[in-house]
Amino acid sequence: MSIAEIAGAAVTQERRLVTAIPGPISQEMQARKTAAVAGGVGITLPVFVVAAGGGILVDADGNQLIDFGSGIAVTTVGNSAPAVVEAVTQQVAAFTHTCFMVTPYEGYVRVAEELNRLTPGEHEKRSVLFNSGAEAVENAVKIARAHTRRQAVVVFDHAYHGRTNLTMAMTAKNQPYKNGFGPFAGEVYRVPTSFPFRDGETDGAAAAARALDLIDKQVGADNVAAIVIEPIQGEGGFIVPAPGFLRALQDWCTEAGAVFVADEVQSGFARTGAMFAVEHDGVVPDLIVTAKGIAGGLPLSAVTGRADIMDAPHAGGLGGTYGGNPIACAAALAVIDTIERDGLLARAGQIEKTMVGRLNAMAAEDTRIGEVRGRGAMIAVELVKAGTTEPDADLAKRVSAAAHAQGLVVLTCGTYGNVLRFLPPLSMPDHLLEEGLDILAAIFTETR
Ligand SMILES: *Cc1c(COP(=O)(O)O)cnc(C)c1O
Repeated sequence: MSIAEIAGAAVTQERRLVTAIPGPISQEMQARKTAAVAGGVGITLPVFVVAAGGGILVDADGNQLIDFGSGIAVTTVGNSAPAVVEAVTQQVAAFTHTCFMVTPYEGYVRVAEELNRLTPGEHEKRSVLFNSGAEAVENAVKIARAHTRRQAVVVFDHAYHGRTNLTMAMTAKNQPYKNGFGPFAGEVYRVPTSFPFRDGETDGAAAAARALDLIDKQVGADNVAAIVIEPIQGEGGFIVPAPGFLRALQDWCTEAGAVFVADEVQSGFARTGAMFAVEHDGVVPDLIVTAKGIAGGLPLSAVTGRADIMDAPHAGGLGGTYGGNPIACAAALAVIDTIERDGLLARAGQIEKTMVGRLNAMAAEDTRIGEVRGRGAMIAVELVKAGTTEPDADLAKRVSAAAHAQGLVVLTCGTYGNVLRFLPPLSMPDHLLEEGLDILAAIFTETR
């Protein structure tokens, strides 16, 4: 089959390996990649994709892989989801760009209206659109600083907020995100997160007290513009904080006049079985940052929050050439429609039930699986030296390499590189989900 034929055909929902992974055509493309693309761009699995849909990625050699990655939590509604394709096709034919700051268009306003409707809290809200998660996080900090007229930004151990200069400073892990790229932005302060598996503290309020005491003593409440936190830490290892942790941080912010910012770039947009992960804890952030799953693969991000905070920056203080591009906005509106029409919150809940059930069964027989955690279709296993809590990054590498060889795309994460994370698209049919879990179960048995 030619690439055009593969791309044009509807993607059948079956795993199929016709060559070794990666196949010869992918290997040839990877050689060209090495010669043409900057070496700093790493690649998890060098199969070159020509089509995708449902729960399948099709590569240039004609292999069909099960996708447990969703392009890092982006294609939540599926790759080339029909409603997204139609909305994008119509918009691209109508017009592609005007710059919203020059001559505006309705799609941007509609996305803002939808974000204001969907995010937690009944208060009056505003939204502003950007291109990437990091850009939105940076702008949340700008807005919080303009509103509070303070400078300090508090972040957490294991945090990931992006790769721009300010968000590198906010990100915890040195390799590969920060090493050699300093100096970093100032006025960023890091405190301990809540990580029940490693810190043993299951009382979220107590874990928060530990962090808040450090803020009080080392930064001073009066200097804090914002606390920025991922409600479930993504790159850091799918760390779900103990119940009450987020609420205690939010309460402290309200008391201190600081802005509580939820970075829901990875956990938002139906991924965890709620539209936003903070909803599981009944928390209403002042500002909420979204990206990744928002537009089905088109580049879009947003900051949404309390009108009085959002309106603090002066006119012209926020924006960007491409922010809220009309094609990305059309895609986002189709994504929101698809989530609501197809009941995808419930689907994420079903995926959680299946995955957690199967993974817990594996963990019961394998003491190298230290913990199964996460919510919805954002589930991970933390791998350790058998029966201890000592991280085993080598095992995570071996399991993911074996999965890749069998046509199952999985990603690793975690400060110690020892976490396997699973982020299937919500369009994944049950038989592929089960097949992917079968492959993992067999690998865990074989590597024992
Ligand atoms: C991916 C991610 C970002 C950065 O998003 P980009 O679009 O890659 O800039 C920020 N925060 C979190 C929690 C993320 O997972």
